[in-house]
Amino acid sequence: MRYISTRGGVEPISFQDAVLMGLADDGGLLIPESLPDVADRLPRWRDMDYCELAFEVMRLFATDLPEDDLRGLVDMTYGPAYGGPVAPTREVGPFYVVELWHGPTLAFKDVALQFLGNLFEYTLARRGGELNILGATSGDTGSAAICGCRGRDGIRIFILHPEGGVSPIQKRQMTTVLDENVHNIAIEGSFDDCQSIVKSLASDLDFKARYSLGAVNSINWARVMAQVTYFFSALFDVQKMSGAAQAQVCVPTGNFGDILAGWYAMKMGAPISRLLLATNENDILARFFDTGEYSRGEVRQTLAPAMDIQVASNFERYLYYRVGEDPERLKALMDQFQLTGAFQLELGDAEAVDPDLVADTGRRQDCLDTIRQFYVRHDYLLDPHTAVGVSVAKRHQLDHAPTLCLATAHPAKFPDAVRQAVGEDVAHHPEIDALMQRPTRCETLPGDEGAVRRYIEHAVEDGL
Ligand SMILES: *Cc1c(COP(=O)(O)O)cnc(C)c1O
Repeated sequence: MRYISTRGGVEPISFQDAVLMGLADDGGLLIPESLPDVADRLPRWRDMDYCELAFEVMRLFATDLPEDDLRGLVDMTYGPAYGGPVAPTREVGPFYVVELWHGPTLAFKDVALQFLGNLFEYTLARRGGELNILGATSGDTGSAAICGCRGRDGIRIFILHPEGGVSPIQKRQMTTVLDENVHNIAIEGSFDDCQSIVKSLASDLDFKARYSLGAVNSINWARVMAQVTYFFSALFDVQKMSGAAQAQVCVPTGNFGDILAGWYAMKMGAPISRLLLATNENDILARFFDTGEYSRGEVRQTLAPAMDIQVASNFERYLYYRVGEDPERLKALMDQFQLTGAFQLELGDAEAVDPDLVADTGRRQDCLDTIRQFYVRHDYLLDPHTAVGVSVAKRHQLDHAPTLCLATAHPAKFPDAVRQAVGEDVAHHPEIDALMQRPTRCETLPGDEGAVRRYIEHAVEDGL
């Protein structure tokens, strides 16, 4: 399998090259040249354990890795070292819920980032050289990425977060990691400022080459690929538990990464009847699927901060398919968006309607009501991101198919939202409770690209 850019400006490259490149050199995103159809393999896949299934999914995409090596990486990631089951599914009230938060930082991002850390280390060990990971986080990506890369040979990781813009727990999950190769940087600015500094440095190809910059944001293809597996595994679980042939899947969405993995799984033949895309008040995606208009708004702070995003970095991949895999058209739309903050696909135009995807918004009160309702009625605690999804799922239940909701974080990561919803301090986890006692390390920099550039140069040149 080879990888091309959504904007058409990169010669086809291998899987490992795509993973190291992160953002495509022409400013687009890397995607596989074709999508495998696995429908006839489903009966065989159904009874596999998570490691076997992950190997089967990934071998379709990571074709430049020897199969034994890929199997080794998968087992190393999702075996006992993972720390818990990867994607257990349970029935909760009217829904099935797949809990994706059993990894080391208690959010679904561990599923992909634990794998990516192992993969980076593997590739660097064979090719030599080093990698300087640069990423921006509004909360959960940072801790999961840091946890995936800490202490690894040949890797430094620089994670920018908006000063004051992440929760105290999220901040501690990042800054209590004291490994020398981990650089936490608080930026005096917003998450979008952090993301644009990262984008701008990663688009400076001289700088990117000289300092071997790599990406862990969900634009990295390996992340999307790793997430495809759990859509299959959870759908198989729902089939077994419910007897239904298909289910609809509800995904709380920020950067369009997780739902993109679901969309790929659906296109490959996973038994998904349709996808429900849930946003919070930052509803640019929900508006797009309603009206065909994609227009940037002000970022609003909500109870689900990992979804407080206006410009969803992975949306470009989806859009590429929606405009008929036409890189010229895609590039024109992205250029227009860059310039004016908006574009419009004509409604009625085949481009604007997607029968496989329904989008809706879960607002603050929906989120709080849903956390409370599930706690009281089903004795089950949802985190606010999952609750945004579940609140949307409640509005779109089907008679003929069950609904699977993705649970993206452990509620103990967001105790304030849970307290507001149920009136008591019930969201706890021993790992989170222990964080407040540990020492921290973090640098603060102004919100400009030059300051971050100099910090990285300094760290790399001094071998820090
Ligand atoms: C990152 C995150 C999301 C959003 O996922 P995307 O892939 O960015 O759409 C939802 N919930 C939680 C808890 C997250 O950390």
